[in-house]
Amino acid sequence: MKYPAIQNYVHGSFVNPSTSKTLDVISPIDGTLLSTVPLSSAKDLDDAVKSAAAAFPAWSRTPIKERVQVFFRYKTLLEKHLKELAELCSEENGKTYGESVAEIEKCIELTEFATSLPQLVTGEVLEVSRGVECRTEHAPLGVVASIVPFNFPSMVPNWTLPNAIALGNCLIMKPSEKVPLSCGRLAELLKEAGLPDGVFNIVHGDVEIVEAICDHPGIEAVSFVGSTKVAKIVYQRATSNLKRCLALGGAKNHLMVLPDAIPGMTAQNVAASMSGCAGQRCMAASAMIGVGNVDAIIDKICDEARKIIPGENLGAVINKASQERIEGYITEAEKNGAKILVDGRNAKVKGKEGGTYVGPTVIDFVTPDMSVAKEEIFGPVISIMRTNTVDEALAIENANPYGNAASVFTQNGGMARYIIERASAGMIGVNVGVPVPREPFSFGGWNESKFGVGDITGKSSIEFWTKLKKSTIKWNAEAGVNWMS
Ligand code: NAD
Repeated sequence: MKYPAIQNYVHGSFVNPSTSKTLDVISPIDGTLLSTVPLSSAKDLDDAVKSAAAAFPAWSRTPIKERVQVFFRYKTLLEKHLKELAELCSEENGKTYGESVAEIEKCIELTEFATSLPQLVTGEVLEVSRGVECRTEHAPLGVVASIVPFNFPSMVPNWTLPNAIALGNCLIMKPSEKVPLSCGRLAELLKEAGLPDGVFNIVHGDVEIVEAICDHPGIEAVSFVGSTKVAKIVYQRATSNLKRCLALGGAKNHLMVLPDAIPGMTAQNVAASMSGCAGQRCMAASAMIGVGNVDAIIDKICDEARKIIPGENLGAVINKASQERIEGYITEAEKNGAKILVDGRNAKVKGKEGGTYVGPTVIDFVTPDMSVAKEEIFGPVISIMRTNTVDEALAIENANPYGNAASVFTQNGGMARYIIERASAGMIGVNVGVPVPREPFSFGGWNESKFGVGDITGKSSIEFWTKLKKSTIKWNAEAGVNWMS
């Protein structure tokens, strides 16, 4: 085992959980046993909630300009340890080193946003009658929790961690049991940056801990990122316990390619979007709709896909089960009459035989009723459908239950606007294959890609992590007595 057994992080220290149940943490790159992750119990969660609750009074009363000083230092530490954090990210998740560097750079950007929060939460004040003012303040919620998926071991935790904490909350993080190592390093860096003990805690585990988070009376709000199936469970359970909840789910992102699209740029963008992070991104292009004759562009997409080599510029998928599921989708599509233009099944990487790889796969002549057209594949696979008109393409996009992202490739501005207005997705790209809004713009999908109000990052997250306090204030007797006294 490469690293020591993973522990929970409670009140500024790594501690053993109360149970001895563990899961192995295996590197998708080559099958190396990296560590074991504990499956904590409800008691372990309770210990973390008690620690966070004890830290809350002092932390929430620390002025926000002081709180964000921790994040200025944390940002510097992320920069200092970028290489090491990126290597750890690749090791546990399987993505390429370059993708991991980009992930840590995104953590830095998210942290920069958190340091700007004092500028954004100044509240409002107005003299509402003579000598009487109303003012609003953003008050923290208390102890809050963040449950995260496997595909971004550092970035998704940093969607919530800097903003929730800078806004005065104390946070419990539940990492994915598949990639639990990176969060521990983040905890160490936060401590080095001066974060008081108890403000950030980690409780490892799986279903049992997620359910315990949803049920714990000491937790005020739950943020979740993962599959739609689990997002629904978490949203329903947390809100039925009267907690605030924002649950981001899965995706099936459609790219609409029009005949006037710039062929080279479009092909590069489509291939990069479907294969980046081995297709394990909630913003990955998964379905492409060619409107009219786009055969020349499809040829170029295949050329680009063939340049993507597992183990070189394409990382591994998370585990064997994922590899089998993805290959199963390709085989089923083939049986149902689709044409496999580039086939990523049975990918092997020399010297890394224990790794779990799927090569880039381009499937043409997919029909909207096929599983590869409807379901999230979460692998480096693009399913191409064809229509005669933009409205038919939009009908396919609109009929899918998800709504994270959609993109259009065209040089016609009016047509792009037409599609922006009609696509049923929260994040739209025009000639951009992965339309992730960068800070300060917020991240969040629609439909079954998100349950709850608002978005998870950017300005929108302020509403989620705080509650408004409204004060009505009169100091001077000469303000007199009126209808609102
Ligand atoms: P997942 O839903 O399996 O797991 C997410 C979290 O929920 C993990 O911490 C896991 O321990 C926990 N969990 C798993 N099953 C559970 C259950 N039955 N009950 C309670 N908790 C449970 O997701 P994943 O496989 O880790 O991540 C991939 C999914 O996440 C994809 O669907 C992807 O689209 C989605 N995702 C969405 C976004 C977004 O912004 N919408 C971002 C990243 C990933």
